[in-house]
Amino acid sequence: MPKPFVIIGSANVDFIMKVPHLPARGETVTDGTFLQTYGGKGANQAVAAARAGAATHFIACVGEDAFGREMAANFLQDSIGLAGLMRSIDQPSGSALVMIEEGGMNYLTVAPGANHALSPTHVEAHARMIASAGLILLQMEVPLETNQAAIAIARGAGVPVILNYAPAHLISQDLLRGVDILIVNENEAAELCGINPIDPTTAEAAARALASMGPARVLVTLGSQGCLIFDGGMATHVPAFRVAAVDTTAAGDTFCGTLGTALLEGHDLPAAARFASAASALSVTRFGAQPSIPPRITIDDFLQSH
Ligand code: ADP
Repeated sequence: MPKPFVIIGSANVDFIMKVPHLPARGETVTDGTFLQTYGGKGANQAVAAARAGAATHFIACVGEDAFGREMAANFLQDSIGLAGLMRSIDQPSGSALVMIEEGGMNYLTVAPGANHALSPTHVEAHARMIASAGLILLQMEVPLETNQAAIAIARGAGVPVILNYAPAHLISQDLLRGVDILIVNENEAAELCGINPIDPTTAEAAARALASMGPARVLVTLGSQGCLIFDGGMATHVPAFRVAAVDTTAAGDTFCGTLGTALLEGHDLPAAARFASAASALSVTRFGAQPSIPPRITIDDFLQSH
């Protein structure tokens, strides 16, 4: 029985308005279509891990509001352990306001709210949960010090740390030194190391530069070009599965959560990356973030038929 998977990070409510065209400043655009979904990188990754079969615990902070209650109910439906879910009484649940016009161009604004109230103290209160995990997974939508506290506990207990450096607006090379596996997409790699990966060859150069900053293993995801694994000086390219993509939201989150699940089950990194590629390929064939994340049986069926 694999050990538990502890994911620490953000949870958001997404308000999405599809509009015929994006408004100019001061303009009112009518005829929109409204959709409300749940997202946040931490939450998406926890959902991906749990649906892929890991015993998942989520350490996060939501508001003491209707959205916070709804998010908690959704996590329970996916059998995610919520002993580490905190409710902020003075901050609302994190939210994203999205406007998308036909063709896909968008405006995106985020109010972190309760996600920024997830403090090192809160993580330290769950030190035992982190120390008994088989693996922890972090992203960059909660305070840096909170991630630093989680890494310190995990390292003290010999628990491997995966960091998905997304979004890359907070650059901390300090953080990278405590990371075992770093996962970045093209933009995040370029922000962090200055090399813009556009194919497996340039991804290898970026991964080599990132590995020199501390992480023993680096994965650069390349959208429909798959991903590049850099491990012990050796690069391996894992191609993406060919699918009809309709919406790539949460592809990276699905990749991270399911990669961790496969590693906990004892697979090596290339095999885990193949499993994660299958799960994320499936996620791009469906609309939305959490609604697009596949259950284990669908991933296994897909892998058998490919
Ligand atoms: P992010 O969402 O963080 O930008 P990527 O776009 O690199 O991440 O996608 C993560 C993984 O999802 C890729 O490595 C690939 O395996 C899979 N993926 C993404 N887009 C596609 C696609 N169009 N077809 C098949 N697989 C895809």
